[in-house]
Amino acid sequence: MPNASLVIANWKMNGNRELTKTMSAALREKLNQLQQVKLVICPPFTLIGELANQCYYDDIAIGAQSVSEHTGGAFTGEISTAQLQEFGVSYVLVGHSERRQLFAETDKMVNEKALATVNAGMTAVICVGENKAQRDEGNTWEVVAQQAKAALANLPKEQAGKIVLAYEPVWAIGTGETASPEQAQDVHAKLRALLVEQLGAIGEKMPLLYGGSVKADNAAELFAQKDIDGGLIGGASLKESDFVAICQAA
Ligand code: PGA
Repeated sequence: MPNASLVIANWKMNGNRELTKTMSAALREKLNQLQQVKLVICPPFTLIGELANQCYYDDIAIGAQSVSEHTGGAFTGEISTAQLQEFGVSYVLVGHSERRQLFAETDKMVNEKALATVNAGMTAVICVGENKAQRDEGNTWEVVAQQAKAALANLPKEQAGKIVLAYEPVWAIGTGETASPEQAQDVHAKLRALLVEQLGAIGEKMPLLYGGSVKADNAAELFAQKDIDGGLIGGASLKESDFVAICQAA
């Protein structure tokens, strides 16, 4: 039985005002069937205000795809935690592999962004995952553990309730090649143990999401795994019927 409790849509640099309307309407229609699942949508920054208005009366949370580690000032093109919160944002994706690879985000920056997010009172969704070469070389866990430890450095234990970890194997993102439920569960079980080791008993309860080509037809199998508490959904979160079906599989 799937037991997922959190499903997050990552629209990446996709979507427009129309999608904020059609997606929120499609979810609203099914919200009474989705009460056990927390839904979060992370649109591009410019659509946050519009989506927040659309979802004002619904139990759908708004997330950002990134945030600055700085509080404000001369950082052209950046957005601060306070600016996100003014628009009702309560979740922030931190360290997505596209940010790490294409925008040179380092482990140190990921850590600073995670701390800035939780210190502002929002939930940080920290993304970790190995690339194809690292998996082929047998280094999956080494890479994932190193990223997770670096991201959680100096996190006060009392802030652990504001952290979600998303395991997203880079080779599965946007490729249509999903990790098998066993491959995903293997890493999730190790992440669970790492969280308990680093943060104590609360680690048992911290949500662990899987991301990477989650679709309507493979979501239930993934969500049925013991340590998979939900999903971070890219491509399939852009089509109303697909995303609703994934939420229903949770
Ligand atoms: P995907 O993306 O579902 O399109 O593979 C997931 C993600 O990048 O968060």
